[in-house]
Amino acid sequence: MTVRIGVIGTGMIGEEHSRRITQTLTGGAIVAVSDVNAEQAQAVVERLGLDARVYASGQELIAADDVDAVLVTSWGPTHEEYVLAAIEAGKPVFCEKPLATTAQGCRNIIDAEIEAGKRLVQVGFMRRYDSGYQLMKEAIGGGRLGEPLMIHAAHRNPEVPERYVTPMAIHDTLIHELDTFRWLLDDDYKSAQVLFPRKTRHAHSKVEDPQMVLLETVKGVRIDVEIFVNCRYGYDIQCAVVGEEGIAHLPEPQALQYRQAGKLASEILQDWKKRFNDAFDVELQAFIDGAAAGQIGGPSSWDGYAAAIAGDVCVKAQESGAIEAIEMPERPAFYG
Ligand code: NAP
Repeated sequence: MTVRIGVIGTGMIGEEHSRRITQTLTGGAIVAVSDVNAEQAQAVVERLGLDARVYASGQELIAADDVDAVLVTSWGPTHEEYVLAAIEAGKPVFCEKPLATTAQGCRNIIDAEIEAGKRLVQVGFMRRYDSGYQLMKEAIGGGRLGEPLMIHAAHRNPEVPERYVTPMAIHDTLIHELDTFRWLLDDDYKSAQVLFPRKTRHAHSKVEDPQMVLLETVKGVRIDVEIFVNCRYGYDIQCAVVGEEGIAHLPEPQALQYRQAGKLASEILQDWKKRFNDAFDVELQAFIDGAAAGQIGGPSSWDGYAAAIAGDVCVKAQESGAIEAIEMPERPAFYG
C-alpha cells in the first residue's frame, strides 16, 4: 500500500522531506501540498516533479479524501492548529518540532490524541534515529556504562542570522538536546540553569553567545550543554555520557582523514542538514511504515510536551540567572 501524503508548509524542510519521500524512501507518495504562499507550493511541485494538488489551505488538504497522512512542516506557530485538525480527521500526522509553541498547545494535542484513542502524532525529533545516538542508547540500556552519572554536550553552529535572538538558543537549538537526553537516559528533568560566559565578538547584538545550560534530572544525572552558535569553524554536535563503568562518546560523522603538508586533518561539516541526513531518512521512513501499519511510534506528543516544558523553564532561567525547577505532570498511561 502506498501512503498518500499531504505536506503543509513547503519551505526549506517541507521541500527536503518531500524530496526524500519522493526520491529516497519507499511506500509514500506526496499527493497534496499547501503553503501560505501558494506560488512557493507550486514551485516545489514543479521542482520535484510531483503529481500533487496544491491546496489553498492546510485545513482543506487535511480534509481531502485522497490524503492518508499529513506532514506539518510550516512555521512553528501554525503547528498546533494543523496537528489538531489531522487528529480530528483521524489521520496520522508527522509534525516538525516544535509540536506547538506553548506547553498548553502541546497539552491540547495530547488531550485530543487521548480522546481519539490511538497514537496519531510523531514529532520530528530526528536525533533519536541517528545511528550514533542509537549506539549510545544501547550502551546505556544494556548496562555497559553502568548507571549514567553525567553528560557533557555541545551544540555548535558556524554562525546565525540577525533574526536569531537569545531565547532561540533554547527553542530552536537546545530543543533537540532536551528531547535526546530524556530519551537516552529514560529520565525527566528536575532543574535548569543558564550561564553566559564572556560573549564572542562574532555574535550580533541580539544574541548572547555562547551559553551554558546546566540540567539536573530526576535520577540525579547532571548535564552541561554548551550552545555556541557563532563558533565559526563548523556544525559540531558533541555528546559524552559518563557512567559508573565507562564513558561513551557520540561518534564523529564519517570524514576522510588527511596526512598532508605536515598536518593530520579531517573536514568538519558546515551544514547541519548533512549531519542528520540519514536520521531524517530513517525517521520519515518510520512514519510512512507506521502510517501504513496503522501504528505510529517514535517521539510522541508527550515527548513534544516534555521538551516544551523544559524549554520554557530554560528561557526563564536565561532571564533570572537562577536555578529554576522543572515540573513535569504525571505521564498518562496512554503514552506508556
Ligand atoms: P521555512 O523555510 O520558513 O518554511 C516554513 C514554510 O511554512 C514557509 O514556506 C512558510 O511560508 C510556510 N507557512 C507559514 N505559515 C503557514 C501557514 N499558516 N500554512 C501553511 N504554510 C505556512 O522554515 P523551515 O526551516 O522549513 O522550518 C519549518 C519547521 O520545521 C519549523 O517549525 C522548524 O522549527 C522545523 N525545522 C526542524 C528542523 C529539525 O532539525 N528537525 C530543521 C529545520 C526546521 P512563508 O515563507 O511565506 O511564511
